[in-house]
Amino acid sequence: MVRWDPWRGCEKCSEGCLHCYIHKGDAKRNIDTNMVVKTNHFSKPVDKLKNGTYKMKSCLVYLGFSTDFLIEKADEWRQICWEMIKERSDCTFLFLTKRIDRFLKCIPDDWNDGYDNVVVCCTVEDQKNADYKLSIFSKLPVKHKIITAQPLLERVDMEKYLDGIETVVVGGESDKDARLLDYEWVLDIRNQCIRKNVSFEFRQCGTHFIKDNKKYTIQTKDLCRQARLANIDYKRC
Ligand code: SF4
Repeated sequence: MVRWDPWRGCEKCSEGCLHCYIHKGDAKRNIDTNMVVKTNHFSKPVDKLKNGTYKMKSCLVYLGFSTDFLIEKADEWRQICWEMIKERSDCTFLFLTKRIDRFLKCIPDDWNDGYDNVVVCCTVEDQKNADYKLSIFSKLPVKHKIITAQPLLERVDMEKYLDGIETVVVGGESDKDARLLDYEWVLDIRNQCIRKNVSFEFRQCGTHFIKDNKKYTIQTKDLCRQARLANIDYKRC
């Protein structure tokens, strides 16, 4: 897995952004996250060695993990990224977005029913956003779709939006002031996935976590491990 950040920076746009790790990290270094700027890695997928081969080998590429790939402030740069993504058909490019309602404004002219090598993860955190964003996402021409419910902030019924989804990823919030994650909500989404034969992954616990009506505070370093220990991931057949 390789990261590609053609630009960095993002503006909060959703309930799930409250404790955004990019904003928190930047605040410690006095960087204004709201400024969206191109990075030196803009052309990373197509950079070449002296012998003419690509520096970046065939791999899964995590795209825009210091931004939201569909953010308005990057509209002028995105088309060139699509051209690089198309050129590197040997790689798979995965991005998350909280701005799925901008998707159709952001795709290239030759997108048609989607590029084979692009995975789009639509992020939701509560029922209101699930109803708004997943009803849009479910109709979009995308070959590979993932839903990320992280940080999950309440019980969410998303079953009617699961047709055509490959995986649902669920997780809690990581912060000393994190909002609660109730394990019952996690199991509820898992059951929805099993009924619709969609893969399910419990990615991380929340710092403040409720299980069997008992409240736990979990250290950041243990959040993913505790989720793995629950051993509730499901692979679709
Ligand atoms: S959309 Fe994502 S990257 Fe942007 S502020 Fe919200 S959580 Fe952070």
